[in-house]
Amino acid sequence: MKILVSNIGSTSFKYRLYAMPEETLLARGGVERIGAENSRSYVIRDGETTEKVAPVPDHGEALSACFGQLTDPETGCLKEAGEIAAIGFKSVHAKGVSGVQLVDEKVLEAMEAFAKVAPAHNPPYVKAMRQLKSAYPELPLVAAFETGFHQTVPRANRTYAIPYEWMTDLGVERWGFHGASHRYIAGRIAELTGGKAKRVISCHLGGSSSICAIENGKSVGASMGMSPQSGLPNNNRVGDLDVFALPAILEGTDKSLEEVLDVLANQSGLLGISGVGNDLREIEEAAAGGNERATLAIDVFVESIRDYLGSYLVRLGGLDALVFTGGIGENSSVIRERVCRGLDGFGIVLDASTNESFKGEGRLSPELSATEVWVVPTNEEIIVARQSYERLTAKD
Ligand code: ADP
Repeated sequence: MKILVSNIGSTSFKYRLYAMPEETLLARGGVERIGAENSRSYVIRDGETTEKVAPVPDHGEALSACFGQLTDPETGCLKEAGEIAAIGFKSVHAKGVSGVQLVDEKVLEAMEAFAKVAPAHNPPYVKAMRQLKSAYPELPLVAAFETGFHQTVPRANRTYAIPYEWMTDLGVERWGFHGASHRYIAGRIAELTGGKAKRVISCHLGGSSSICAIENGKSVGASMGMSPQSGLPNNNRVGDLDVFALPAILEGTDKSLEEVLDVLANQSGLLGISGVGNDLREIEEAAAGGNERATLAIDVFVESIRDYLGSYLVRLGGLDALVFTGGIGENSSVIRERVCRGLDGFGIVLDASTNESFKGEGRLSPELSATEVWVVPTNEEIIVARQSYERLTAKD
């Protein structure tokens, strides 16, 4: 069965095409600059890129362009688009809906109901899914929700101290996100340690960041709460903030609530503190050059990670493996070193020279470290492909 796993941006459509259950990656590609005159459609097969620049007005047309490339006798790997059994999406949030769902009107409306809770994700996904459904009504769309992996977090750890009905009626609780990534890490670290790592903390540090406590393969804690704007500071999203800061911000800035939420979602995080940019590489460079706000942004990020680390160490009652993943977790030796600094007393030791030059997947801790420290590049797409395959082949 062939499954297209798609990643939607407001003006982009990226995909990977898998043969399942073999998990063979057949092709990847997408369309950039959707809606512009110079949209770029591309497909990459066996390291060869083929591209075409021509207007692609919307996501429905983007899928047609991709189907055209995938069935091209020269560059394609399919005889006909009908070979594709479904499109799987790493979907973010929906009111009253989680897990893996076939996308229908009910699911779309549930995603729309939380559009303001996940403003960077839900609106472009809903719009694109509607366009795809209208262009290809027979093609099943499967939504694998990021919140799904965290359904096993105990109630005491998911419940906010608000009137109980706000949780039951409005869905205000700690949902947790990055579920595809943390699920992948849970499975992969079990393989890498031969099943030895029962208590795991997964640090997904990237454009957006979150930490997950995993016990026997199941999530028991997630740093993001009701929305993906919470938890750790992200590149340009706020992270945790006392909601009673809002009246002071509204009064002091003369902005509307919508405008303040927009700043908190787009101009905050490491960008807001540093004023340098929203890429950690630039911030690390500025800090090395003596920029105090850049230094503070890194300190705040590291301290926030360590706060969750401490909390989850206690929740798990110890730690067998600490895993770094995501663009920052996989590449920034500085952040990894700062996070693990002085934790020998907890059995967490990082080998400095291994950490410094590390690339790829592997262990960073010396033999003597009771907790194994790993870098594991995440693979969210394969999780979505697996979940879509399981959903499509499940006997209802
Ligand atoms: P996203 O969350 O958008 O999928 P990624 O997980 O790919 O993003 O992470 C991208 C981020 O990783 C960049 O914005 C940058 O902050 C960070 N990053 C990538 N490479 C490095 C590096 N070598 N050193 C420090 N940070 C890096």
